[in-house]
Amino acid sequence: MEIVVASGKGGTGKTFISSNFSIFLKEKAKGVIAVDADVEAPDLLIALGGALRTLWKKDIFESEKAEINQEKCTLCENCISICTFHALKKNNGKITVVPEFCEGCKACYYVCPEKAISFYMKKTGILYVAVSKTGIPVVTGDLSLGERNMGHIVYEIKNVAKSLALKENINYRVIDAAPGIGCTVISSIAGADYLIVVVEPMTPSLKGARRLIELSKHFNVKAYAIVNKYDLNVSVSERINKLLGVPILGKIRYDNLVVESYSQMLPLIKYFPKADIVKEMINSFENIWEVVTSE
Ligand code: SF4
Ligand code: SF4
Repeated sequence: MEIVVASGKGGTGKTFISSNFSIFLKEKAKGVIAVDADVEAPDLLIALGGALRTLWKKDIFESEKAEINQEKCTLCENCISICTFHALKKNNGKITVVPEFCEGCKACYYVCPEKAISFYMKKTGILYVAVSKTGIPVVTGDLSLGERNMGHIVYEIKNVAKSLALKENINYRVIDAAPGIGCTVISSIAGADYLIVVVEPMTPSLKGARRLIELSKHFNVKAYAIVNKYDLNVSVSERINKLLGVPILGKIRYDNLVVESYSQMLPLIKYFPKADIVKEMINSFENIWEVVTSE
């Protein structure tokens, strides 16, 4: 079963919920795989205590870059004129490519009269599986500098997690999606069983949450919400299920212990198990558990 934790906006506490929920499921369901689908800024492994050991690693080559055959090039500059990404420059009597700007769109290839432009695959980053110090297998990735996060990298990460789950006979996968509603979030939600939207009682967060819920309808994924930092605006928090139109499975207060536990690289559920915020969190997770095991 695939449970996606997402928020329409960054900084709402999505990774905080994903990491602690993974710890909860590890005990409750006797196993879980955590998946960091935010390969542009991966931090789920850190939130779960950091890597104990790496189990598997693979380089990914997803981006095409242009290169110029200087012997064929007649310096007509058609390619420079067509490139809207400003990836081609004329330097010292030569046309050169700035790989960081090249989007691999191939417009230059089609306007080159000399067929002097070809393409190569550049390493985009790595995918890997590591066991965290809290004993949870984490599937994650790391993009190379200047590379773009793309939906099919997330699709591949999810497939790696699925195969690992089958091999290890683990029933639950928690996907920590990227913030927003871009193509990587779409890949995270597509094919999932449940979406847990983490929302704060503030307008930008509510707006993002509504968009995510719309997206979940499109993919037929059941959506629920958890209100994080509910006490920052109690009156909005009380109306949130009407504002979002999905069941609210829990409300969690604001607490500086969250930052403290992050700085200790320990999920709060382990760092301060007796805190009131942890009780609220566990209560929310029990509600998720009830939903996913009763349907
Ligand atoms: S492939 Fe596209 S982005 Fe890259 S150099 Fe050619 S026109 Fe520019
Ligand atoms: S279009 Fe082709 S021939 Fe013209 S400058 Fe570019 S690479 Fe050279």
